[in-house]
Amino acid sequence: MKYVVVGASAAGLSALQAIRELDPHGDVTVVDEETRPAYSRVLLTHYIAGTVEDRDLFLVEEEFYRKCGVRALLGVRATGLDPDGRQVDLTDGRVLRYDRLLVATGARAVVPGWSAPGAGGDRGGTGETGVTGLRTRDDAVRIRRAALAGHSVVIVGGGPVGVKLACALRELGVTPTLLVGSPRILSQVADREASLILERHLVRCGVRVRCGVEVSEVIRGPLGTEGVVLSDGSVLPGRLVVVCKGVEPRTELVRGHVAVRRGVLVSGGMQTSVPEIYAAGDVAECPDIWGEGTRVSAIWPHASRQGKVAGTNMAGGRDLFPGVLPRNAMDVLGTPFVSMGVLDAPAEGGWRSVSRRRGDSYLRLVIRGDSVVGAVLVGCVRMAGPIQAAIRRGGRGWEELVAP
Ligand SMILES: Cc1cc2nc3c(=O)[nH]c(=O)nc-3n(C[C@H](O)[C@H](O)[C@H](O)COP(=O)(O)OP(=O)(O)OC[C@H]3O[C@@H](n4cnc5c(N)ncnc54)[C@H](O)[C@@H]3O)c2cc1C
Repeated sequence: MKYVVVGASAAGLSALQAIRELDPHGDVTVVDEETRPAYSRVLLTHYIAGTVEDRDLFLVEEEFYRKCGVRALLGVRATGLDPDGRQVDLTDGRVLRYDRLLVATGARAVVPGWSAPGAGGDRGGTGETGVTGLRTRDDAVRIRRAALAGHSVVIVGGGPVGVKLACALRELGVTPTLLVGSPRILSQVADREASLILERHLVRCGVRVRCGVEVSEVIRGPLGTEGVVLSDGSVLPGRLVVVCKGVEPRTELVRGHVAVRRGVLVSGGMQTSVPEIYAAGDVAECPDIWGEGTRVSAIWPHASRQGKVAGTNMAGGRDLFPGVLPRNAMDVLGTPFVSMGVLDAPAEGGWRSVSRRRGDSYLRLVIRGDSVVGAVLVGCVRMAGPIQAAIRRGGRGWEELVAP
């Protein structure tokens, strides 16, 4: 059996291991456009803060692939797919034939128009200043260098990556400015109360936060990037502008060949609409735990679990992903924050929420009918595990979780 895996990160690596366990002699090739072995994106902000060394970012060593008997083509991109001929074209001119293909191409940082190459100028360059995203190790290296060189940093986007970066820069002694288009930080992953607690904490810790503003233009001068013009007309100085406006699944390899919505649509077995093609990780859109819809989940543990499921099924085993339960967890400069599941309780239809607040410690459960379906925790997150387990079991018996 010939297997091709495109993408050697959380999803791709777990798939390789699962394939090898079931098919020790299969012909396995992994392709990744990164030139070095897989690393942890989760640790990138810790690397920027200086609490994790560069060498500790890597998940596997150079010999890993050889030891597993896997052909690794690094520094090469898959550019074309022929599902009828079952082959993948690579940038180096090679054509790979497959019996089973896994698309584990992840996601890329969204590039708003004002920051696109040309508009934003030196985006993607190797210099310390300019405009960058935060998705790759190269991005992280650039941000850390800029911060250490004393350049002012503007972060655009108040989602989890933007907030994690703001925290990392503070740990490094830099005072970043966090620009947030929404009226509050973490608006997609926290409720209003949690956002406000965390925003106040960030400000107390020295992060400058401005909500309700968008960037309309990057200012370029003789020194390169010098700042940004905001939607209210004001100007903010900044030598490095980091765009953290979310991610989009990298579906381009398979778009037009398999069913794609926001991500590549897959079953619980991570199979696409073409049976011999699988997808897993940030590129995949799969059923949620309630069986009510499909979601792109974009977190490491899901990518890794989905990769394992895909690899097992590709090699003839049987495994099922239990469904996406959206989740976020982070440490906001010493204040832990966790959210999961559904965060809004509509006014009608048997929804309600139960909350408890003591100082800056906050817990809110979202209840549908008799079942807990979502939660937000700030400060004390001890109950996050039991709440998650309860949601996965169907959500009954939640009253015990908030007993005083
Ligand atoms: C700064 C940051 C912090 C994060 N923090 C957290 C966190 O705290 N907790 C958490 O759970 N998640 C976190 N995440 C998200 C997590 O990193 C992702 O969910 C995870 O990396 C997804 O893994 P993946 O294998 O699906 O894709 P990716 O990690 O995106 O890897 C995809 C790989 O495919 C390769 N590729 C893509 N297209 C091609 C092609 N055509 N040809 C060849 N190679 C290709 C890419 O080079 C890449 O190596 C964070 C992400 C970032 C960027």
